[in-house]
Amino acid sequence: MMYISTRGGGTPMPFQDTVLTGLARDGGLLLPERIPDVRGLLRGWRLLAFQDLAYEVIRLFADDIPDADLHRIIRASTHAFRHPDVTPVVAVGPIHVLELFHGPTLAFKDVALQFLGNLFEYVLQRSGQELNIVAATSGDTGSAAIHGVKGRERMRIFVMHPRGRVSPAQERQMTTVRDANVLNLAVDGTFDDCQRIVKDLFNDLDWRDAHHLGAVNSINWARVLAQVTYYFYAAFRVMDETGATRVRFGIPTGNFGDIFAGYVATRMGLPVDRLVLATNENDILTRFFTTGVYAAGGVVPTPSPSMDIQVASNFERYLFYRADGDTEQVRRWMTHFQIEGRITVDTVAGAPSVDPLIRAGRGDTAETLETIRRFWKDFGYLLDPHTAVGVHVGLQHLDETAPMICLATAHPAKFGAAIKQATGQDLAHHPILDALAGLPTRVEIVAADTRAVAAVMERKIAQNP
Ligand SMILES: *Cc1c(COP(=O)(O)O)cnc(C)c1O
Repeated sequence: MMYISTRGGGTPMPFQDTVLTGLARDGGLLLPERIPDVRGLLRGWRLLAFQDLAYEVIRLFADDIPDADLHRIIRASTHAFRHPDVTPVVAVGPIHVLELFHGPTLAFKDVALQFLGNLFEYVLQRSGQELNIVAATSGDTGSAAIHGVKGRERMRIFVMHPRGRVSPAQERQMTTVRDANVLNLAVDGTFDDCQRIVKDLFNDLDWRDAHHLGAVNSINWARVLAQVTYYFYAAFRVMDETGATRVRFGIPTGNFGDIFAGYVATRMGLPVDRLVLATNENDILTRFFTTGVYAAGGVVPTPSPSMDIQVASNFERYLFYRADGDTEQVRRWMTHFQIEGRITVDTVAGAPSVDPLIRAGRGDTAETLETIRRFWKDFGYLLDPHTAVGVHVGLQHLDETAPMICLATAHPAKFGAAIKQATGQDLAHHPILDALAGLPTRVEIVAADTRAVAAVMERKIAQNP
């Protein structure tokens, strides 16, 4: 399988190169040149355990990794999950909840970042290269990335968070990791400062090449790929349990990475009749999927901070399919968006269009807290605030013949304050988080300045060859 850019530049590259490349050289995102049709395979896949199913799905896209190696990588990537099903599905009231939070940092990002860490190690070992991963985080991504690469050979990770502006639990999840190849940087500034510094470092091409910079954000195709499996896995479980022949998914959405994996699964032939996209007040995607107009707004803070995003970094991948693979069209849209801050995706008649597969809605803060409260009261089940946004919107799209599977993207204990606000009780705990309370931490405080960060990185690289 070869990979191409959504903007048509460059030459097609194999899977292992896409893993290290991240962003295409022409500024586009990488996609497989075709999506395999697996409808004839579904019957045989239906009873597979998670790891075996992941192997069947991933090998179609990663055919430059020998079978035995891929098996090993996938087993290693689910090893740290504390549930035998890896991503179990439970029936809760009128919906099914796909629990994606049994990984080491209690967020769904572990599914992808455990896989990416193992992939990096594999690819680097074979190529003899090394990688210095740089990431900016407002919370969840940083800890999942750190846990994906800590202690691994040939790579270091530098994670910037805005000093004093991530939740105490999230900060501890990052700074209590003291492996030699991990450096937490508390930047005296905002999350935007952290992101700007990452961009500056990547745009300094000489410095970037000299220091072998790598990225772990969700534009990396391998992250999307790792998430495709659980759509199949959950659909099979729920179809078996209910006798239904198709399902729908409710997906709390920020950067459009998770839902895009569901989109890929659907294009592969999984019988999904709706992908229900849910946003909080930061609703650029809900507005797009209801009006056909993609227009950026300001970011407002909510109880679901990992979805407080205005410009969704994976959306360009979706636009590629909306344009029927017309890379010139994608390029025009992206250029237009950069200049005007908005685009309209037209139908034949020139009217804005909506996608019949995707339904979208938003849940505001009051609705999110009310959903948490009601699910606890009625079903004794605690939803984290991100999951609750998806459940709130998912409940508006119930159907008699297609069961609703809502993705639970974080463990409620990561967002204890919101749970307490919703239920009036201090209910959300997890032994993993509680155990971090007394542990020593390591973090370096640094000014919100690209040169200062580069200097810290250079020193660390020199100290730790
Ligand atoms: C990152 C994240 C999301 C949003 O996922 P995207 O792939 O960015 O759409 C939702 N919930 C939680 C808990 C997350 O960490």
